[in-house]
Amino acid sequence: MQAVTYSKNVFIPLTNACRNRCGYCGFRAARSTGSTRSAISTRSAVSARQDIHIMRKDQVRTLLKAGREHGCKEALFTFGERPESEPLIKDRLESWGYQSIIEYLYDLCEEAIDIGLLPHSNPGVIGEDELKLLKDVNASMGLMLESSSSRLCEKGMPHEFSPGKAPEKRIGVIEAAGRFKIPFTTGILIGIGETRDEITASLLAIKELDDRYHHIQEVIIQNFKPKPNTPMENHKEPSIELMVDVIKTARAMMPDMDIQVPPNLNPDPEKWKTLLKSGATDLGGVSPVTIDYVNPLMQWPRIESMEKAVRDMGLTLKERLCIYPKFIKRGWYSNRIDELIERYVDEEGLVR
Ligand code: SF4
Repeated sequence: MQAVTYSKNVFIPLTNACRNRCGYCGFRAARSTGSTRSAISTRSAVSARQDIHIMRKDQVRTLLKAGREHGCKEALFTFGERPESEPLIKDRLESWGYQSIIEYLYDLCEEAIDIGLLPHSNPGVIGEDELKLLKDVNASMGLMLESSSSRLCEKGMPHEFSPGKAPEKRIGVIEAAGRFKIPFTTGILIGIGETRDEITASLLAIKELDDRYHHIQEVIIQNFKPKPNTPMENHKEPSIELMVDVIKTARAMMPDMDIQVPPNLNPDPEKWKTLLKSGATDLGGVSPVTIDYVNPLMQWPRIESMEKAVRDMGLTLKERLCIYPKFIKRGWYSNRIDELIERYVDEEGLVR
């Protein structure tokens, strides 16, 4: 029976400071006032704009332990890009003995491994030395391409104020990850003002990178969701028909690629079925401990609901690690995490 996969993770929103200002973002802090309020929220938290913060090590440790107690295998580190560009974050990191967020992240990944979780970091656009450093303590890493269209960086477009969203920079990071043999997650964001041809070009860019390095483990096809108090709060969501069309295009272009659709951004189980029938194979990360801080109004589904929807289709739902089975078979991971991988997977490379 064919399996649909998902990963049980704990979402660590390390800092909401970001050098970019994407028109659709509800995650980045709106202002810097020096508040140090806790970044730990519960599922009931809402998307109120917060002051800039960065999680202390003890706060991260608390979340990691809670994740492990709830059966998570993945520690998902997500944060704004180059947050040190914000003086408050730079000062705080320096007071803790770190020159950069990446140095801090490295230590947190080690904490996660010690607690029994496999790190997956989404560090934004970073340098090659930083990528190499993180490879040592990450089971996989990720960077959304979003779109290969530089038109979206022009005046009045969603990436106008986001230097890190320049497609050539993002493609450069994904390419470097391929050279370093890092199992990598990327994807595209649908419905932010791109044309249908630009969507195809974005998928083609990902395919070409994977053809060269064989390191892309999944392509996320993410639908735009408007968030309150953002410049794009009244922008229309993409239709389900468009999502289906894009997934079919991705499937035709990359027949063996895992394609992920985030279930909380398509909350109706009937939609999951439609998207899975179109060629999606993965329902992404689900966090039993924390909310989706990037889309805080969209609750994670219950795993039982996902199981039922998948069973209704005659398929099975299987938990995977944040490193996909084929990269486990290839041995694309460091000896820092081999004991954890062996502990968690069955002979197919999925969670036993
Ligand atoms: S890069 Fe991410 S966190 Fe930063 S503004 Fe854009 S969407 Fe928000």
